[in-house]
Amino acid sequence: MNTPTPILMDIDQHAALPFPQSLPEFQRLFPDDAACAEYLEKARWGDGFVCPHCSVTGEPFRIATRPGVLACRKCRRQTGLTVGTVMERSHTPLFIWFWAAYLVASQTPGMSAVQFQRQLGLSRYETAFQILHKLRAGMVRPDQDRIGGRANEHVEVDETWVGGRTRGEGRGVHPKVLVACAVEVRHRKPGTAQDKRKDGRYAGRIRLAVAADRSAKSLCEFVDGAVAPGTMIVTDDWSGYAGLRKRGYDHHAIAECGDPEMTEEFLPIIHLAFANLKTWLTGTHHGVSAQHLQAYLNEFTFRFNRRFYPFNAFRSLLGIAGDAKAPTYAELYSGDWMHPTSSSCMC
Ligand SMILES: [Zn+2]
Repeated sequence: MNTPTPILMDIDQHAALPFPQSLPEFQRLFPDDAACAEYLEKARWGDGFVCPHCSVTGEPFRIATRPGVLACRKCRRQTGLTVGTVMERSHTPLFIWFWAAYLVASQTPGMSAVQFQRQLGLSRYETAFQILHKLRAGMVRPDQDRIGGRANEHVEVDETWVGGRTRGEGRGVHPKVLVACAVEVRHRKPGTAQDKRKDGRYAGRIRLAVAADRSAKSLCEFVDGAVAPGTMIVTDDWSGYAGLRKRGYDHHAIAECGDPEMTEEFLPIIHLAFANLKTWLTGTHHGVSAQHLQAYLNEFTFRFNRRFYPFNAFRSLLGIAGDAKAPTYAELYSGDWMHPTSSSCMC
């Protein structure tokens, strides 16, 4: 066995690697395994195939009955297109994986395996369950890099209690869990259609973590891990945040944050994010136990941070985004483009 070659892609290669804007367009772009294989090939070798065995460039042999495999013209050895992706070693056809990732990336979160099975036209429930499980695993890996760190932009930080009474599976009254949050605040360009809402402010990237308590230690450690040093941070005047300036942040505490008008003025974006999070947790999952909460926070973060860019979500889910840097946020969060199928706007 060869070590899998890491698949690195330029995240900005939109023209060569289009993302469909509708289901019919999706079906036109990815009608069969051959079309999906061609996409994978382009994603991996933007400038043409390079044999990972002998480094020879040039058109490989293609095997009609095995679209996921290329063979080198020189050394004749084969290269699997799904190596290093979520599809590796799967017997499920590529176009089913592509369709599944498209559904997960672009449609209502929390689709059940049964709904999924029906949408994909699969005969076996187990197949649907496994695909969904693998794709969701890609969402619960936390994003690691720290947010903020940009001039002229600040980050709102706050904490909230999540949980309580739940219905359905795991029903009952659970102890509430403290969740800490940091969210980037961006500004729309003046003159765009939405620049009147909330003074043109909207959410950039988010970070969420279960916090042990409201102590300075818990909250400041969360900020240290989530927000780049030097960032301007706005919080309420809770003493737990008092140490942020010493830790190298440009910290501004807003007094009288219990007053809804003050909150709306100084911490509007994070409260919107909390409202969306709670709606999603209770509406989609009927509440979540403390044990699984961080995984759900990670899924929420994955969706939230890619909500304007399902193309990026789609590739991350399939595992073909590699270690590509986050998309160019100027373009991503210009605010001019909204996801066509998103069921709720989070900003
Ligand atoms: Zn070769």
